[in-house]
Amino acid sequence: MSTMSTGNLKCRLHNGVREHYKKLSQRGMVQVTYVWIDGTGERLRCKKKTLDYEPKSVEEIPEWNFNGFGTRQSDISKCAMYLVPVAMFSDPFTLDPNKLVLCEVLKSNREPAETNLRQTCKKVMDLARDHRPWFGMEQEYVLLGIDGRPYGWPKKDLQPDGIFYCSIGTDRVFGRDIIECNYKACLYAGIKICGSNGESVPSQWEFQVGPCEGIDVSDHLWMARFILHRICEDFGAVVTFDPRPLSGEWSGSGCHTNYSTESMRKEGGLRHIENAIEKLRERHSYHISVYDPHGGKDNLRRLIGHSSTSSINKFTVGINDCRTSIRVSHHVEQEGKGYLEDRRPASNCNPYAVIEAIVRTTILNKFH
Ligand code: ADP
Ligand code: MN
Ligand code: MN
Ligand code: MN
Ligand code: MN
Repeated sequence: MSTMSTGNLKCRLHNGVREHYKKLSQRGMVQVTYVWIDGTGERLRCKKKTLDYEPKSVEEIPEWNFNGFGTRQSDISKCAMYLVPVAMFSDPFTLDPNKLVLCEVLKSNREPAETNLRQTCKKVMDLARDHRPWFGMEQEYVLLGIDGRPYGWPKKDLQPDGIFYCSIGTDRVFGRDIIECNYKACLYAGIKICGSNGESVPSQWEFQVGPCEGIDVSDHLWMARFILHRICEDFGAVVTFDPRPLSGEWSGSGCHTNYSTESMRKEGGLRHIENAIEKLRERHSYHISVYDPHGGKDNLRRLIGHSSTSSINKFTVGINDCRTSIRVSHHVEQEGKGYLEDRRPASNCNPYAVIEAIVRTTILNKFH
């Protein structure tokens, strides 16, 4: 056993001991965990601060700062960066009255950091407010052990054969405890999680957030990712949002984004859905370029035209067809109103970039 895995095992055995400390009084003080997106645009960082009052809204949480050199967000000569609280949640790890707070990152000149894509997203959502845009995102991911193999797999590798999706049973399900803890923790935190299912790769899972109006879906999804990473620490597991972490015939991971406006949700909405799809068709390559954090390179490994994906090079639409870029659900077509599903975003996408692009294309009719 390597030093690293021994360390993690010890850490997990200590969870029982921790129960004692969790019961201790905080003597009126409140712990706030500040969470932010780091220089990779994919990973999250956090640090804690004590407040001597319980904040009732995000406005009551003070700005803070951190050393951006340690997160690859600044050079060493301008290392102080600002944390601006934007969305507050209850802390499911240390419990009420403690908080988790998602923050935007500003540089020392108070301009948004390179990986802070929230500001332009917010501007676009404000411009489109009258259309009441709703989003629901389906976050897929794979659980790994600390050794990098899929979490809980037997010694002999499993083979893809269609028995794992939504499955049950010790030989087909890997990591359900983690998923159930994550679901409960998200509900406790106040995240609008609306569902979860086992996916077609054993140890691959999905949860869904939404529907939320405007930017909230992205704030909630980032915090849900934070909570999942943190829960995995308790189990000695590692969550990967890489869009194709396993090679061969195994499917990748996506972040299907479901979208509607008020007119799509009303009687006769299907016409507005079709209209939006035609606009999305015109701008396929722009969308691909913002649907993963590497300008489309990550999705090149995932959108290969099989395993429930479309080809990255071709824009396709289907009713109830999982091999397309955009899918309209059977029930939406039957009712003649509802929403569309954009199946292109990768699992490691930045949800601010994704929803901004959708609204720019379908509502604002504008290039950058
Ligand atoms: P799938 O059939 O693609 O697996 P899921 O059940 O996993 O679908 O996810 C459906 C998503 O659609 C959820 O995130 C939900 O919040 C979202 N959703 C439902 N209704 C709407 C709507 N009117 N507008 C936008 N998103 C919606
Ligand atoms: Mn220090
Ligand atoms: Mn789904
Ligand atoms: Mn799925
Ligand atoms: Mn889907």
